[in-house]
Amino acid sequence: MMDMHCHVDLYPDKDAVLADIQKSNFYVLSVTTVPSAWNGTVSLTQGIERCKTALGLHPQLAHLRKNELSLFDKLVGETRYIGEIGLDGSKGFSEHMSDQTTVLKHILERCEDFGDKVLSLHSLNATGQVIDLLKHFPKAGTPILHWFLGTKKQVHEACDLGAYFSIGPAMLRSQRGSKVSSWIPRDRVLLETDGPFAKIDRKMLFPSQSTFAIEGLANLWVVHRSSVEQQLHLNLKKLLS
Ligand code: MN
Repeated sequence: MMDMHCHVDLYPDKDAVLADIQKSNFYVLSVTTVPSAWNGTVSLTQGIERCKTALGLHPQLAHLRKNELSLFDKLVGETRYIGEIGLDGSKGFSEHMSDQTTVLKHILERCEDFGDKVLSLHSLNATGQVIDLLKHFPKAGTPILHWFLGTKKQVHEACDLGAYFSIGPAMLRSQRGSKVSSWIPRDRVLLETDGPFAKIDRKMLFPSQSTFAIEGLANLWVVHRSSVEQQLHLNLKKLLS
């Protein structure tokens, strides 16, 4: 199984999250929020074969850390995985949309030089803008829209761009999240936790707990848990092939 969006470097108890990853043997995408965190985060999970570190610059930090784009450029050749990147149109961040857009455009353009990147994208209150930018940089890589809360039309537009969607237990707990999840084609669904930030019953999620979402997906799809597991396994395999 998998957790395709997890902030391994931001857990208060690093030993606990590392133990969880090792014990579960899950495929984990360890996303970062600033390029300067990349080296340290890589060394955290050194030797854990199925844990991949992604190079990111989080949209909520874009206006503060845009100066790290030069470091991003130096590191971008070292990994196939990019994230967390994206746009955030929420209160407190929408006023920095021009910096966010500059940063995301820069990153997508760099990624086009490679062609094989896998991108974990944040799109809170900016789903349309994120899709528009992905359309402008179609060779940037395979997008994984994390905790996507767009419209049905946007789900289809993203699918046309080859996107996957990472869904977590917290997303399925909300009515909106559950609705959006029901629109996503089954062969585009992946699991995530967004730990340690996303919580269930006020407890932070560890990567192996991404599977709490399986029950919800089984209900949405009206199939048994084992069919959901089988589908997710195929989806991950296809993404990485
Ligand atoms: Mn996140």
